Amino acid sequence: MTRPSASGRIEVICGCMFSGKTEELIRRMRQVNIARQPFRIFSPRRDTRYGSSKITSHIGTSQAAYPIDSICEIPGLIDEHTQVVAIDELHFLIDSPEVIVQTCQDLADRHLRVIVAGLDQDFRAHPFPPMAGLLAIAEQVTKLYAICVRCGAYATRSQRLINGLPAPLDAPTLVVGGSEMYEARCRACHELAPPLHE
Ligand SMILES: [Zn+2]
Repeated sequence: MTRPSASGRIEVICGCMFSGKTEELIRRMRQVNIARQPFRIFSPRRDTRYGSSKITSHIGTSQAAYPIDSICEIPGLIDEHTQVVAIDELHFLIDSPEVIVQTCQDLADRHLRVIVAGLDQDFRAHPFPPMAGLLAIAEQVTKLYAICVRCGAYATRSQRLINGLPAPLDAPTLVVGGSEMYEARCRACHELAPPLHE
């Protein structure tokens, strides 16, 4: 049997907030560790929720990670023995979508197993462009769901709240926050306030 790392591939773990993306990434890396495949986990510095030298799921499990700003740092942080590269919270990288997609392609073409986790939609329910690109080219896609806090249906959207009210359409796309600022919601319960600035 061919081992999963024997040829390069891209795996995407996506979904809304609180859907268990980091937990799934940690689960896969635990198996990589058991298989004794050399690996590196990377976490964007912009995600300051837990300290970026590790990745931590909402249920508290964690793994050591290298903090990066740009995906372009990764080739210089791996060596010829590395078989698996994992990137958590992909949407926080500073690079353009084209650079993110191409760097993942290059790593997979170098026979690395590349596992990325991140939001597929922003708080407006618009696709995050780098994730949309990776979803199209990935060998394996895992879309996870949370539970809507309003109605109990499967949630696919990240509801941003400002003082308990829906964020306006023209609010900044990336704002780091946890359960004080975000809720998992389904399509029917997701809300946006009108833009503050015309
Ligand atoms: Zn709902």
